[in-house]
Amino acid sequence: MSKDYDLLAIGAGSGGIATANRAASYGARCAVVEADTRLGGTCVNRGCVPKKVMWYGASMAHALEDAAGYGFDVKVNGFNWTQLVKDREAYIRRINKSYENTLGKAGVDVLQGHGRLVDANTVSVGDKTVTAERIILAPGGSPAVPSVPGAELGITSDGFFELQDLPASVAVVGAGYIAVELAGMLQALGSSVTMLLRKTHFLRNFDEMMHSTLTESMQSAGVEMKTGFSISALKQTDDGILVESTDGATCGPFEKVIWAIGRKPATAELGLENISLEVDPRGYIPVDEFQRTSVESVYAIGDVTGQAELTPVAIAAGRRLADRIYNGMEGRKLDYSLIPTVVFSHPPIGTVGLTEDEARKQYGDSVEVFSARFTPMVSVFSEHASKTAMKLIVEGPQQRVVGCHIIGDGADEMLQGFAVAMKMGATKKDFDDTVAIHPTSSEELVTMR
Ligand code: FAD
Ligand code: NDP
Repeated sequence: MSKDYDLLAIGAGSGGIATANRAASYGARCAVVEADTRLGGTCVNRGCVPKKVMWYGASMAHALEDAAGYGFDVKVNGFNWTQLVKDREAYIRRINKSYENTLGKAGVDVLQGHGRLVDANTVSVGDKTVTAERIILAPGGSPAVPSVPGAELGITSDGFFELQDLPASVAVVGAGYIAVELAGMLQALGSSVTMLLRKTHFLRNFDEMMHSTLTESMQSAGVEMKTGFSISALKQTDDGILVESTDGATCGPFEKVIWAIGRKPATAELGLENISLEVDPRGYIPVDEFQRTSVESVYAIGDVTGQAELTPVAIAAGRRLADRIYNGMEGRKLDYSLIPTVVFSHPPIGTVGLTEDEARKQYGDSVEVFSARFTPMVSVFSEHASKTAMKLIVEGPQQRVVGCHIIGDGADEMLQGFAVAMKMGATKKDFDDTVAIHPTSSEELVTMR
């Protein structure tokens, strides 16, 4: 019997929307199921987009601090968090609307409600059921909260985006992207921030030069770091929230505590048991290189697969899947190697490829490392100048570049082109043969000796 749709995606976030739009462009009959009243998923509503707006706000605060160094007699009369949040949310509403329009134009149906698998070709949405030849699971995830007494006193990144006022004091718990990004923004915008790390430093998966340089910058901006601090409980007092550690130490009180300890996949209410699809020990849906699950008509993309949890990755995986299935591009799939990524810290970190440790483990003595560390020209007149640091890691007689790591002003915009070069197999000689652009920070990457 013919199905209602050729393709149906559960989740209208980065991955689900990209897959359905691309498949529809090839003539497939597509729908997306979305539980939220807003389209766009985490990235648009509670992730990349509102985060980048706040990051720009924080960068503006840094620029105002530095303005005097350039001769400006600036008096800042205040910062209106409430207004920024209001404008940010209005901007997001416009994006939601444009997604709605794009899906409408592409002929993709939007089914509002919670999607749940009934069988391998059927999904229930509220009290309706729809059928599809192929189902794409793209439900993303949500922030993790630890099971310690008083955990509910803390908020997560979702709660951060709901804050209507700037908190005076904040403890940020966690050591990944979200922890450093939120801590940096809050400190720049006027909160007093303490980072609570259970290990010795944050961004442990990043190159050592990146996290050590960022630690220095954040500390000089006023962020307090407590390392080796494993939380046992949160307690509400009249003065704020106290945080207790497993070894009996207490810190605080804080107006807000933010959990930024990772995310968990949204698989619990998906009806996976109805198609005997098992999740891995971390709760993610296992897929092969073509995003196929163990059930023939069911695919999974994006954060729920537990691979690089980044918007462009979800989009790229979904588009390639649609190209392969609906446009005859046999073998088309996402290559998960050399994915560039930026941490929107202050200053930002851009990184692609192997860290020095990873490269030495993988290639041993054939690894060479080139690095630079300097005060960028933009901040020579600044009181709190943060350093720029760069590292190129090369391997083998051809000196193929296998890692490129940058922290500093502009690193976020610098990385994309270098990632293209590395994807093409660039060597150190290719970098050296490229004429520098002067005066910039990025020129260091083609002049390293
Ligand atoms: P999502 O975008 O999460 O979309 C899933 C959608 O499915 C949601 O809308 C959800 O409501 C819906 N859904 C879930 N279950 C069901 C169901 N059963 N029925 C119907 N609908 C359902 N990535 C970057 O690349 N750059 C960044 O700067 C960046 N910043 C981030 C900042 C924060 C604070 C966070 C939390 C994430 C950030 N990310 C960033 C990560 C990025 O947001 C995710 O990788 C991306 O959104 C994943 O897309 P997805 O399609 O897998 O899932
Ligand atoms: P991450 O997985 O990046 O980092 C979370 C870290 O918190 C862990 O690595 C761990 O570090 C620490 N942690 C874990 N459990 C605990 C605990 N119980 N107590 C204290 N610390 C703990 O998660 P995030 O939530 O920061 O982000 C999720 C993902 O979203 C990211 O991995 C990234 O893929 C994506 N993202 C991307 C962004 C971007 O592109 N700019 C921005 C934001 C998110 P340790 O073991 O060292 O303690």
